[in-house]
Amino acid sequence: MSSVPRPALAIIGGSGFYDFFGDDAVSLEVDTPYGAPSAPITVGQVEGRQVAFLPRHGRKHEFSPHTVPYQANLWALRSIGVRRILAPCAVGSLHADWGPGTVAVPDQLVDRTSGRPQTFFDNGGVHVSFADPYCDELRGAAIGSAVPELPLQSTATMVVVQGPRFSTRAESRWFAAQGWELVNMTGFPEAVLARELEMCYAAIALVTDLDAGLEAGEGVSAAAVFAAFEQNLVPFKGLVRNAIAAVEGTDTCARCRVHAGVTLPFELP
Ligand SMILES: [Zn+2]
Repeated sequence: MSSVPRPALAIIGGSGFYDFFGDDAVSLEVDTPYGAPSAPITVGQVEGRQVAFLPRHGRKHEFSPHTVPYQANLWALRSIGVRRILAPCAVGSLHADWGPGTVAVPDQLVDRTSGRPQTFFDNGGVHVSFADPYCDELRGAAIGSAVPELPLQSTATMVVVQGPRFSTRAESRWFAAQGWELVNMTGFPEAVLARELEMCYAAIALVTDLDAGLEAGEGVSAAAVFAAFEQNLVPFKGLVRNAIAAVEGTDTCARCRVHAGVTLPFELP
């Protein structure tokens, strides 16, 4: 590539998504006022369009859910031109019928994290709308991209816990009793930071385990989670590829533009 790439669409996900990219992909080192992102950003052609990829936990999974540099990640993507983000992630299920291999496209989120910087606006009383935390246009693209191997749930409430530990049985039962269906450790503040930078964002969640409150045995183990993820990774990546092809437009949708009339405290390139 001769000129600097300006990808409008990005994937934030696990390091397995590197194989979406061919030899012509470039690696961009991006610095931000919040430090370096989790890794250099890979940019290349996927499904006939220019796509950026950032491995959320770093190239070698060096970041824990609570140490991921979320502000730097979102800022870095926005600064190279990204306006729309698909965010595949692993989740525990709080719903007995949603076993490992189920895909869910959340429409709601509950934040149970603590101590994570969750805004770019430290001054000025800026409060973005977050009633609907995910972009409906991107959710539609994901929902329409189902693959036969993985059953898909088109709505779900995802509770994001601080981690890195898994939930206790009591916490898990409490979450389920609220009607929440999924547990995850990285979906927040990723979603709100995307919203603050006026980028469309949708999570695509792959169930790897039944959470502690639903599991009669030993509870959740990291080994079981990684094994389930690996097992379903090929069809899941197929679904994400379909979603990349299905996303229409290269700019933020009207509903994800939240700063009309607000003076931003920063200027992005
Ligand atoms: Zn949107």
